[in-house]
Amino acid sequence: MNDFLTIIGAGLAGAEAAWQAAERGIKVVLYEMRPVVRNPVHKTENCAELVCSNSLGGNQPHSAPFILKEELRSFNSLIIASGDKTSVPAGSALAVDRDLFSQEVTEKLSNHSNITLKREEVTEIPQEGPVIIATGPLTSPKLSEQISKLISQEYLYFYDALSPIVNADSIDYDKVFFASRYDKGDADYLNCPMNAEQYYSFIRELKAAEKVEFASFEKPVYFEGCMPIEVLADRGDQTLAFGPLKPVGLPDPKTGEIAYAVVQLRHENRDSSAYNLVGFQTKLTYPEQKRIFSMIPGLENAEFFRLGAIHRNTFINSPSLLNKRLELKSRPGTYFAGQITGVEGYVESCAMGLLASLSAVAQIMGRPYNPPPADTALGALINYLTASRSKGFQPMNINFGLFWVEDMKIRDKKMRNQKISINAINKIHQWKDGLSSFAHS
Ligand SMILES: Cc1cc2nc3c(=O)[nH]c(=O)nc-3n(C[C@H](O)[C@H](O)[C@H](O)COP(=O)(O)OP(=O)(O)OC[C@H]3O[C@@H](n4cnc5c(N)ncnc54)[C@H](O)[C@@H]3O)c2cc1C
Repeated sequence: MNDFLTIIGAGLAGAEAAWQAAERGIKVVLYEMRPVVRNPVHKTENCAELVCSNSLGGNQPHSAPFILKEELRSFNSLIIASGDKTSVPAGSALAVDRDLFSQEVTEKLSNHSNITLKREEVTEIPQEGPVIIATGPLTSPKLSEQISKLISQEYLYFYDALSPIVNADSIDYDKVFFASRYDKGDADYLNCPMNAEQYYSFIRELKAAEKVEFASFEKPVYFEGCMPIEVLADRGDQTLAFGPLKPVGLPDPKTGEIAYAVVQLRHENRDSSAYNLVGFQTKLTYPEQKRIFSMIPGLENAEFFRLGAIHRNTFINSPSLLNKRLELKSRPGTYFAGQITGVEGYVESCAMGLLASLSAVAQIMGRPYNPPPADTALGALINYLTASRSKGFQPMNINFGLFWVEDMKIRDKKMRNQKISINAINKIHQWKDGLSSFAHS
């Protein structure tokens, strides 16, 4: 095992990982293929280039994205500090001047005496670790091929298809019922029955809704199993009633009647504080999703933890492949970080860069390392990546549905979020203290 750290990719995750290790006295070799090899999305040669929105997400006290940022701030995160330094007015979000932001990150990395930034494409995964693979949603094709060989092709994906997730407490339980189709197994699904009028109004709105256009490099290659809901609706008004919304085998226990159509919700987490809408992957714009999915009986006042999406994205089946150190179970010393692990978003990717780096640093220094607790934002993400069902695994952004906390049951949302937030930030400080001296840069 080397006494230096190799990191592939200087995006949001790789930049953070390099910084954290370097600040702890570890020599880092950081590979970035731009500008030598370009991709269709990045425009500059800067590290941590923001490819689309210039927002690093919500910064409103006690929101889930805020908690994640605060936890990262407690580790002197390079990405968050650069974001704070180059911020532009954006209400309750942390938005940045994208050029100043990525210039700041690039300068910090380039000037660090422990970091060697090499501008070249990595086409082979180094045999000798520790190495962090942080090549993001647009990992170069040559490296994707090597990753696929390393982990087996069936565990590497090139598109994500996200269905919306709702807060369990925001569902109107008078209008829905628990049941499994044909009573097979436990009554695990929450069913939202629609009459014909409700169904056809829903279909009409779905077909007319505003959609997000695909970028030129995102040619849709749909598999039948993850077709956007609006594409199915376009095939014919009855397609959904005979497909994902089919009511057969689901009589309403109160009346014994079978509805015209049924939207099924599946448990998203173990404590059932969140449910996902089965088969509702979509390219509808966010406001349209909120408007139209609130037409579903029982979801009129739903709080959405996550909205649906479909986009090009290289990611691995982390629950099958990674341990809680973000290390490949089959090849110790090889770590993954960033969007490729199955988190979604700039800050979530940076967070996985921090954690992969701390794991690798602990390994180099021969120190013990335990993952952050599940009632912190960092721990919630690690849990999602490593303890989710591997079948149907899809990328996720930070949201309260991921936190393993009793406080989720508090009805008052403001009070609930505040309690979760204060607890998480306290716990992350304790965790940092418990990591022994290497955690303090
Ligand atoms: C079109 C598009 C739009 C997006 N919009 C948003 C958005 O608005 N908000 C948001 O939060 N997230 C967005 N995302 C997701 C976003 O990409 C991630 O949140 C974030 O950039 C992921 O960070 P990362 O470090 O994992 O990957 P990246 O930031 O992409 O960094 C990976 C780096 O690895 C380099 N690389 C790739 N292959 C190799 C190789 N073989 N050798 C050396 N270097 C290599 C790349 O050049 C890149 O610099 C978008 C993604 C895409 C594709």
